Amino acid sequence: MQYHAVLEKQIKKFLPEQYLGDEQVAQFLAIISNSYKSLEKDKKISEHAFNISEMEYREVTQNLHVQHEMTKQSISHLKEAIHSLAPDAMTGITDGDNLISIIAFLQMQILKAKELEVALIQSKELAEKAANAKSDFLSVMSHEIRTPLNAIIGYIHLLQNESPLPSQVDFLRILQISADNLLSLINDVLDFSKIEEGKIVFTERDIDIRALVNNIKMANRIKAEERGNMLKVMFDDDIPPFVKGDDIRLMQILNNLISNAIKFTNNGKIMIEVTLKALTANDITLHFAIIDTGVGIPRDKQEMIFERFTQENSNITRDYGGSGLGLSIIKMLLNLQDSEIHVVSEPGKGSNFYFDLKFLRSATTKRDENRLDDAKPDLKGISILLVEDVEFNIMLAQKLLTNWNAIVTVAENGLIAVEMIKAGDKFDVILMDLQMPVMDGLTSAKEIRKLNAVVPIIAQTASTSSNIQELVFMSGMNDYVSKPLNPRYLYPTILKYVTTIETQH
Ligand code: ADP
Repeated sequence: MQYHAVLEKQIKKFLPEQYLGDEQVAQFLAIISNSYKSLEKDKKISEHAFNISEMEYREVTQNLHVQHEMTKQSISHLKEAIHSLAPDAMTGITDGDNLISIIAFLQMQILKAKELEVALIQSKELAEKAANAKSDFLSVMSHEIRTPLNAIIGYIHLLQNESPLPSQVDFLRILQISADNLLSLINDVLDFSKIEEGKIVFTERDIDIRALVNNIKMANRIKAEERGNMLKVMFDDDIPPFVKGDDIRLMQILNNLISNAIKFTNNGKIMIEVTLKALTANDITLHFAIIDTGVGIPRDKQEMIFERFTQENSNITRDYGGSGLGLSIIKMLLNLQDSEIHVVSEPGKGSNFYFDLKFLRSATTKRDENRLDDAKPDLKGISILLVEDVEFNIMLAQKLLTNWNAIVTVAENGLIAVEMIKAGDKFDVILMDLQMPVMDGLTSAKEIRKLNAVVPIIAQTASTSSNIQELVFMSGMNDYVSKPLNPRYLYPTILKYVTTIETQH
């Protein structure tokens, strides 16, 4: 039997050989050897166990160390973040290196932020209420002011056509200029607040751009001649006949620039230039320039004139009139269409106001050659249903339309109009007022559309509420003209639908 190595050595050294053969001694030695062996095993196991726990200990301390580093870094990041948010805030932390006090501080800040948010929401609601009240007030007032103005402007126009005495011609002209000025002032103020409230919607309609520019030229020709000015149009032949965009706003911008050019030029020349700047498959960019040889604007005033209610100097209102709103409206209208107005000007030599404007390309290519803008308006044989409740508006529109040889039938409210259509009455065009007793224009148009899908319906609107155009189109109407009815725009708008009818036959 092989004993444990230590026991073997001790046997050799201390046990006389004669005992080795004894069986009881052998048994005893075997037990001792086993005890030695198990002792050694236990020793190895405990050594191993000790080694393992030391490793674990090292690992744990290392982890703790890493965590500590991370905490330190987080605290430093937190402090940096707090500092960048509010440089003075660190003074609000009692123990700067203690995560718990930082968290307490942050909780307090969050609480404060929440309180602030509640206060902000409350003041936003208040501001919205105030803005709504303002826009409601403006909308109502505009209607109230425009209705009598409508009558004034219309009757001035009619009186001018009734062979006035030579002495009255001048009075009528002054009346007309004053009423026009008053109207444009009201429009400017309303426009301005509408734009400021972000309530401007741009329409996309086919624009015969050459006709539009020529119309504007015709409309401004007399004013230009009165100041001895020549008004010229330079129109690039490469421009396609139609583009898609907001014709009303474009007209407003051009009209404003041209009337400024006329106002500040005497015995000079005003040039309206329209050139093709860029053409892609989907859109087309046009360059517009209104160049005059007038008084010009000093360099240091050239930025200021685009600010609201600002004129180049305080004598301007006295000498030329105006409110100083025109250019700031133009600037805002162009900005909303990703464009910008620029000016190059030299005192004594003149000014050049220019901008580039992007339009969508239009599928329409046919230009209506018959439309002679200079010819006397003629609606011979055209039957028009005038839906209107205010007596002097009826008289005015009736007079205008019959002067153009149209056959006019009047319906005093929307319901009467619907009943006429129901009874089978036929009209070439319906001119629909919006605000009427019994049945308003929008409802009436919707009802008429159920009975007749094709008859052109043109809304007449004195309202400035932002979504009126949308409502007009949604009710099934084809177009709109603004009130006071301006013969200059009313006639071409009616003509647009009448000529369409003719070509359909
Ligand atoms: P206003 O209603 O006074 O014409 P605008 O905003 O249209 O308001 O113009 C602001 C000012 O810019 C004018 O009062 C005038 O001083 C100057 N201005 C504008 N257009 C011209 C121009 N073509 N020539 C000289 N000055 C101009």
